[in-house]
Amino acid sequence: MTDLSDKTIFLVDDDKDFCFLIKMMLKKTKVKLLFAYNGEEAIQFMDKQATQGIDIDLILLDIQMPLISGYTVIDLFKKRYPELPVMAVTAFGMIGEREKCIQSGFDEYLSKPFEESDLVILINRLLNPES
Ligand SMILES: [Mg+2]
Repeated sequence: MTDLSDKTIFLVDDDKDFCFLIKMMLKKTKVKLLFAYNGEEAIQFMDKQATQGIDIDLILLDIQMPLISGYTVIDLFKKRYPELPVMAVTAFGMIGEREKCIQSGFDEYLSKPFEESDLVILINRLLNPES
């Protein structure tokens, strides 16, 4: 079993049901989860984190959100926090979307709906790039 009890993931998604689903999927890993429900909230939260020293290991970022899309958020995050891995979680699932995400700076891409095992495998890969 994957133990992520020393890791923190920041999940940014406007779909609260989806946030709850992720929370359930990752429960067994004991990872610490933080949430924001729109892009602006996410940016403000990261700015606040930055002043205190960022204690986030991975960001899961939705693409389709009201007002500020995931593409705008990733652009800003990668400029300010280039070391921090960010994975797209998107309901688009269109052909070419993955490439667009990677080109935009995302480190990984996961299209909804997905299996718990897919999520955990990708998270592990991003948190432990050497293993
Ligand atoms: Mg959304």
